[in-house]
Amino acid sequence: ISNEMRLEFDSRSCNEGFARVSVAAFMTQLNPTLEEVADVKTALSEAVTNSIVHGYEGAIEKIVVECRIEDDTFCVDVTDHGIGIENIEQAMEPLFTTKPDSERSGMGFAFMEAFMDSIEVTSKPNEGTKVSMKK
Ligand code: ATP
Ligand code: MG
Repeated sequence: ISNEMRLEFDSRSCNEGFARVSVAAFMTQLNPTLEEVADVKTALSEAVTNSIVHGYEGAIEKIVVECRIEDDTFCVDVTDHGIGIENIEQAMEPLFTTKPDSERSGMGFAFMEAFMDSIEVTSKPNEGTKVSMKK
């Protein structure tokens, strides 16, 4: 089977839970295990939180979450049009954070890599960031 959906929502932290539950609901048609659903929810919330906190730095703009089912693979993309990432390789290193003084620990990308089968990040300063993950 192949199937797609797209969500667009304001970069408010209250929408993070909404995105997580919607993506999990869409994923159920693949008959995932509870562990697989939990992994996708964790990775998704890390990506959405990054768009809210880093991409838009608290400003209210749009975040787009797109999900695709391709055969037995679940694909999810999280896109913002925020500040973008200067050095993607460095940003993805465990413990790297540009906000060390808040409660950030620099582990978001490490969690996404650990919980998903693949992750690809494309980003341009002042244009935005797209995180594409597969499970
Ligand atoms: P944690 O996720 O543990 O709270 P963190 O968000 O700083 O901390 P990561 O999620 O691994 O850690 O992200 C690392 C860094 O990559 C961030 O500090 C930020 O500089 C940059 N980054 C990540 N996502 C985005 C984004 N959507 N837009 C701009 N910068 C981003
Ligand atoms: Mg993060």
